[in-house]
Amino acid sequence: MFRADIERLAAFGLHTHRASGWGEALALARELRPAAVLLDSGFLEGAGPQLCGALRRSWGPSEMPVLAICGGPREVKWALSAGASDIVERPPNWDLVGRRLLALASAQRTTAELEHNRRQLAQAHVALADGRRKFEQENLIDSLTRLPNRFQIERILERALLADAGPVALIALDLDRFSELNETLGRKTGDEILRLSAERLTACLKNLPGRGGAGPGLMSAARLGGAEFAIVLRDSDAARLAGLARFVLDALGKRMTVGDHQLHLSASLGIAVAAQPNVAPETLLRHAETAMYQAKRAGGGQSHVYHPDLGITAESRLNMGRRLLEVFERGALELHYQPLLAAESRRVLGVEALLRWNDPERGWIPPAEFIPVAETMGLMGEIGVWVLETACGQLRAWLDDGLPQIRIAVNVSRRQLEIGDFAAEVKRVLCETRLDPALLELELSERGALHRDPQIMAQLRRLKAIGVRLVVDDFGTGETAVSQLRGHDLDGLKIDGSFVRDSLGEDGPVLTAAMTAMGRHLSLHVVAEGVETEAELVKMREYGCHAVQGFLFSHPLPPAELRRRIMLPLDRPDVCELMAVA
Ligand code: C2E
Ligand code: MG
Ligand code: MG
Repeated sequence: MFRADIERLAAFGLHTHRASGWGEALALARELRPAAVLLDSGFLEGAGPQLCGALRRSWGPSEMPVLAICGGPREVKWALSAGASDIVERPPNWDLVGRRLLALASAQRTTAELEHNRRQLAQAHVALADGRRKFEQENLIDSLTRLPNRFQIERILERALLADAGPVALIALDLDRFSELNETLGRKTGDEILRLSAERLTACLKNLPGRGGAGPGLMSAARLGGAEFAIVLRDSDAARLAGLARFVLDALGKRMTVGDHQLHLSASLGIAVAAQPNVAPETLLRHAETAMYQAKRAGGGQSHVYHPDLGITAESRLNMGRRLLEVFERGALELHYQPLLAAESRRVLGVEALLRWNDPERGWIPPAEFIPVAETMGLMGEIGVWVLETACGQLRAWLDDGLPQIRIAVNVSRRQLEIGDFAAEVKRVLCETRLDPALLELELSERGALHRDPQIMAQLRRLKAIGVRLVVDDFGTGETAVSQLRGHDLDGLKIDGSFVRDSLGEDGPVLTAAMTAMGRHLSLHVVAEGVETEAELVKMREYGCHAVQGFLFSHPLPPAELRRRIMLPLDRPDVCELMAVA
C-alpha cells in the first residue's frame, strides 16, 4: 500500500493504520479494535489467509470484518475459508475498497449497537421480572389479575385454620385447556383471558345466592399461578359448596369476548374441607388440587370433592407418572407387535405395535394402566412420537430384510391429536423411514379419538391428506353414530374383543353381525380383534370380517421373536405367513 492509496482512503473519512508483520498486525488489532481490516492476501508471501484466521479466532466477522485483497481464484478460496468478510481483486480499485470498507465498518457499528441493546433489554427483562416478583411478595397481590397471590392465600388459610372459628373449605379451580389457548391465541390473549376470568370470578362471588345469609361464608379468592385460582370459605356444608361450585362454573362458562375471539371456557373445580383443627394450609391446598385434577381427568367442566381415597390413587398415579418418565427417558419402554391376518387365507396383512413397560419391581405394567397416567401428566405426546418412530423404523428394517409390504398399525390416543401438530410428526417420520404412507395405519379408539372437536377433525383431515389409513379401534365400546363414521373418511374398523367373545353367547351374534354388516356397507375394512378360539374365527368369517387378530394366532411379541415366526411361502414370496406354534 502506497502513501497515495492511504490518501485515497482518507478521502472517504477512513483513518488507516498500517502493519507490516503478523505480530504488528495482531497487536494493532488488539489495541485499536478497528472497525474493519484491509488485508492483502499476498501479505507476508501468502500468509495473509493465516493472519485472517488468527484474527477470526479472536473476533467474530461482525466484530472485526476483514476485506481481503486477492489475486486469482486460489487466494479468493483461501481468504474466504479463513473467514474474510468480503473480497476485492488485485490490483485494487481504491474507490471500491473505500466504499466496501465504509459499508463493513457501518455494519460492524450497527451489529455492536444491536448487541449492546440486546444485552440492555435482557437486563431490563430480568430487572422487570425481579421487580414483579418483589412487588408480588411485598404486596401479596397478583399483578395481572389484582387478586391475592399464592403467598397471600396461604397466609389467609393459615389464619383461618388457626382461628378455630369453624370449618374451612378451599376450592381450587383451573381453567380447562388454558395452555392450548395460550399457545394458539398467543400470550397476550392468554393474559387477557386470565384477567377476564378473574373479574368474572370476583363478580360471581360478590353475587353469590344467599350471600351473608344462608350462603357459604366467603373469605377470599386468589390466583395460585398459571390458570389456577382458589376460593377460601368458612363452610363445610356439602350442598352449599356444591351449589357454589355450580354457580362459579356457570359464570365462567358464559361466552367471553377476547379481542376478535368468542370463547366458551370451562373449568375444573376441586373442593376440600378441613373438618378438624390443625390441618396445615399446604395439606388443604394439596387436597383441593387433587380433587381438581380428578375433575379434569373426568373430562373437565365439573367439580369433585376431595376424598382420602382420591389422595392415595392420585399420589400413586403421580408416582407412576414419575417412574414412567424415568423409564421413558432411560429408553426402557418397548414395543411388541401382534400380527393381523386375512380372515380367510390367514396371511399376515400387518402388525400392530403395542407399548410394553417391564418394571423391575412390578413386572409388566399393562398399557391400559399407564397410558391414562401418561395422558394426564402430559407425556403422551412425546411417548406417542417415540412409538411412531420406533414402529415405522421397525417396519423399514423388516422391509429392508426382505419382508413383503405388510402394514404397521400404531395406536393414537385422543390427547395426541389435541396437542401440537401430530400430522406433521407423521409426515416427518414417514419421510425419515422412507415408508409408503399407505403402509401406516393409525388406530383411533372409539372412546375418544373420534370426537367432533374441530381440532381433532382438522388433524384427521390432515392425516388423511398424507395418505395414511385411519381405523376406528375398540368399535362397539363407544357411542359412534353411523353418520359420524361417514363424516370421518375412515378406512376400517376393529370390532372390540368383548364382542368377539360374546358372539358365541345369546345376544352377542346379533350385535357382532350387525356391526360387521354396517362396516362392510360403509366399505370399511372390518377387523375382529381378540380372537382366541377356532370357533370364534369361524363365526367372524361367517359374519364377513375381512381380517382377524388375537391370541389364537399370536400374542404380541418382541420384534425379533415375531420375525422368527414370519415366513415367506416358497410359491408366494410376496406374502407373509405365520409359522404355526406347537
Ligand atoms: P388395543 O389397541 O385395542 O389393543 C388390543 C389389546 O388386546 C392389546 O392389549 C392386546 O394385547 C390385547 N389382545 C390381543 N389379542 C387378544 C386376545 O385374543 N385376547 C385378549 N384377551 N386380548 C387380546 P394391550 O397391549 O394391553 O393394550 C391395551 C390398549 O392400550 C390397546 O388396546 C390400546 O388402546 C392401548 N395402547 C397400547 N399401545 C399403545 C400405544 O402405543 N399408544 C396408544 N395411544 N395406546 C396404546
Ligand atoms: Mg389397537
Ligand atoms: Mg382395540
